[in-house]
Amino acid sequence: MNKLLVSDVTREYPGGVFALSGVSFEVVKGDIAVVVGPSGSGKTTLLNILGLLDRPTRGSVFMDGLDLTHLGEKEAARIMNASFGFIFQFFYLIPELTVIENVMLPLWIRDKTSLKLKNYRAQAECLLDEFGMSGRRDFYPSQLSGGELQRVAICRSLVCEPDVIFADEPTGSIDRKSTEMFFELVRKLNREKGVTFVIGTHNEKFLDFATEVISLNKGELADISRRG
Ligand code: ADP
Ligand code: MG
Repeated sequence: MNKLLVSDVTREYPGGVFALSGVSFEVVKGDIAVVVGPSGSGKTTLLNILGLLDRPTRGSVFMDGLDLTHLGEKEAARIMNASFGFIFQFFYLIPELTVIENVMLPLWIRDKTSLKLKNYRAQAECLLDEFGMSGRRDFYPSQLSGGELQRVAICRSLVCEPDVIFADEPTGSIDRKSTEMFFELVRKLNREKGVTFVIGTHNEKFLDFATEVISLNKGELADISRRG
């Protein structure tokens, strides 16, 4: 991924609610793009559209010239799995799966074979180890703290080595120490692995290291600035 281009994106819900109206901007490889705005301004809607979890009612999102908004389900799923990672406020881990199984899941979805389960397990284990979570690998999500759930969700988002990570209020439900760790991690992944981030947040601390700030207000682009 070299460039994500958001072109005149509108998302109208039935009943005439415009969650986004004519929003345009671009995110380039290596950016830490931070989307800010009051509650209800369209941050989640925008991230969902960028990550192909939702489609706009008008306008398009292009990745390196490819119009993502008109892809078929299969091709969209392939791109999501190959290039995108997701971190959500409430993590959305699968409660019936253990920590390590949750982290392995995207690999399994990508390859759709159980022949490589051993490899998947090794890859997941390696990541969990890196995040100090290997001692919890056979726990279930209900047995973990907020910060631990966050780290598992991060491992899951990284396991397929994404180009871009979309994060919606990623520090919205974790404590201060875990939040600091998350900031460090974003910086490190960005610097060392060139991972691009698009982060929707209320947390002003993200502005300290954002390369681009996208401000939304009532679904419209209120301001956009580049830094550094
Ligand atoms: P934010 O993440 O900035 O709080 P959202 O993207 O969640 O904002 O919401 C933007 C607007 O779209 C809000 O007015 C919200 O009520 C509306 N909205 C979001 N999801 C739906 C939905 N499924 N149906 C109708 N309106 C929605
Ligand atoms: Mg939101």
